[in-house]
Amino acid sequence: MRTVEEYRKILDEIKSKTGSAVLVSVSKTRTLEEIMRSYEAGARYFGENHVQEIVEKFSGERPQDMKVYMIGHLQSNKVNKVVPLVDMIQSVDSVSLLKKIDAASLKCGKVMDVLLEVNTAEEESKSGFSSKEEVIQTLEEAGKLKNVRVRGFMSMGPVNCPPEIKDELTRKAFARTRELSVECQKRFNNMDLSILSMGMSGDYMIGIEEGSTMVRIGTAIYGERDYA
Ligand SMILES: *Cc1c(COP(=O)(O)O)cnc(C)c1O
Repeated sequence: MRTVEEYRKILDEIKSKTGSAVLVSVSKTRTLEEIMRSYEAGARYFGENHVQEIVEKFSGERPQDMKVYMIGHLQSNKVNKVVPLVDMIQSVDSVSLLKKIDAASLKCGKVMDVLLEVNTAEEESKSGFSSKEEVIQTLEEAGKLKNVRVRGFMSMGPVNCPPEIKDELTRKAFARTRELSVECQKRFNNMDLSILSMGMSGDYMIGIEEGSTMVRIGTAIYGERDYA
């Protein structure tokens, strides 16, 4: 496990390259001890992709300035479990999920910040909205809900593509996400859709170059994940 000093060095180096973008430390598979060490080193925003892990690691008290974001695909039957524990859900990919989050947030007296996940890399296997029309419909519905607040968009680069064209396709996908966000912001000028969550360990500089305001970085901070 890295020391606080090691985390500090890594976080500072990433921040020096990503400027004002929010750095989300993706702590999936990491222990609470690793999380707290990186917190001590300056990490404040944590990304997790499994509800069970969020329940295990973040059910107890935590520092006020420590924020936990759900970044993975969310099944509707787990919404009630996760809503009380997180500060943002970045992976909204249907109107029905958005409505469930709204209802669960009402129940626990909060207004949940959410991002719409868009599949601009156009990969079949990935979740996320794949058409602009669906995104616009969802924003129209969101305007009627009182306990969710759409704050922008999240997207991932392509996963299954030949390495020699990966960077190029990633850049295209991120550029599409940015264009969609600009268009939606114009159309829904009563909303603040300013968050663009784009970029992971392998492609966060492409994300930054394409306008990302939030990067989600796991491996580069904590090391390779061990799923065994
Ligand atoms: C795991 C994950 C990340 C971080 O990936 P790394 O390559 O480890 O930086 C970012 N976003 C999502 C949605 C993830 O599931």
